[in-house]
Amino acid sequence: MTADGGARVYLDHNASAPVRPEALAAATEAMACAGNASSVHGDGRRARALLEDARDRVAALAGAAPRRVIFTSGATEANNLALAGSGRRLLVSAVEHPSVLEAAAGGRRIPVDGEGLIDLAALERLLREDEAPALVSVMAANNETGALQPLGEAIALARRAGALVHCDAVQAAGRSDGPWREADLISLSGHKLGGVQGAGALIVRDGVALAARQHGGGQELGRRAGTEALPAIAAFGAAARAAPGDDAGRLARWRDGLERAMLAAVPGTVVLAAGAPRLANTLCAAHPAIDAETMVIAFDLAGISISAGAACSSGKMAPSHVAAAMGRGDLARRALRFSFGWSSGAGDAAAAAGAWRQVCARLAAPARAA
Ligand code: PMP
Repeated sequence: MTADGGARVYLDHNASAPVRPEALAAATEAMACAGNASSVHGDGRRARALLEDARDRVAALAGAAPRRVIFTSGATEANNLALAGSGRRLLVSAVEHPSVLEAAAGGRRIPVDGEGLIDLAALERLLREDEAPALVSVMAANNETGALQPLGEAIALARRAGALVHCDAVQAAGRSDGPWREADLISLSGHKLGGVQGAGALIVRDGVALAARQHGGGQELGRRAGTEALPAIAAFGAAARAAPGDDAGRLARWRDGLERAMLAAVPGTVVLAAGAPRLANTLCAAHPAIDAETMVIAFDLAGISISAGAACSSGKMAPSHVAAAMGRGDLARRALRFSFGWSSGAGDAAAAAGAWRQVCARLAAPARAA
């Protein structure tokens, strides 16, 4: 609810999607189950059945065999497991999520162009530079701009050089088909799909070596010790089944309408990655003179939840490393992200366009004489 009692508008699906009704039902059913999936008694077997049902659904989303799915606490853990456990030299795109960039701190960066798309010639050079076996990590869709990477080409280059490919498919899964399913290692997150926060997965191709990072339990075939978070995993399974049914055409119409309205209202507005193929649901735009932090607060007061381009962690809004890597360091503290999803309606885009007009007129107005 807003301060005046109106309904809030939620345009931050890329940060976390509201829980889908079917995911809530699955989580509730799992919470009512007493068992531990590793126990042999009837209650344990019931928990195991729920766990394996979710595994089947997540595997189906990725077009993978269920045995390849390792459940984790989320994509941050999946990315760390994929990269830190690989033992290979790491080549990662400059626009990856911090959980990839920081897990690959000693690795090399694949540069991107002005639209945020990886430089394939640079990747080819980096692959040739060293004989040591490499792991290439390129996300399917960027969480800030929605830009879809030329992943098919990157996978082909990597395979030719004998390298493995990891793909952070958190934002693309359930929203975009495409070659992310072909990667050797794939990271997914339940709550971006409309599941409950606290479950994700790393999907590992058969035969790819992976060093476990958690020890002390045989769960997930010994690749991730610890009792699985059954309610969140059950919700992940339900959301994985529902998400591909979302109408991307509708999301694109609302996104495009908002984009046109923002450009028309404020000359000088910049849309990042406008020239790249993009997810249907994501718009990243910057006002030429107003900080993202000020904007996010003004939108919040108007009852609309959006993010700064670089969503905050621990409550702080960091400058966007994505805008900076795209050569738009000038916009790193200005970029805003609007992201639609299953719970969005046509009125949400109209409300955001209206708020943009009002907020910009107010904040950009020259200070009046007292
Ligand atoms: N990768 C990308 C592209 C993301 O957008 C996010 C979420 N911000 C993550 C990884 C981390 O996911 P989780 O919240 O499940 O740890």
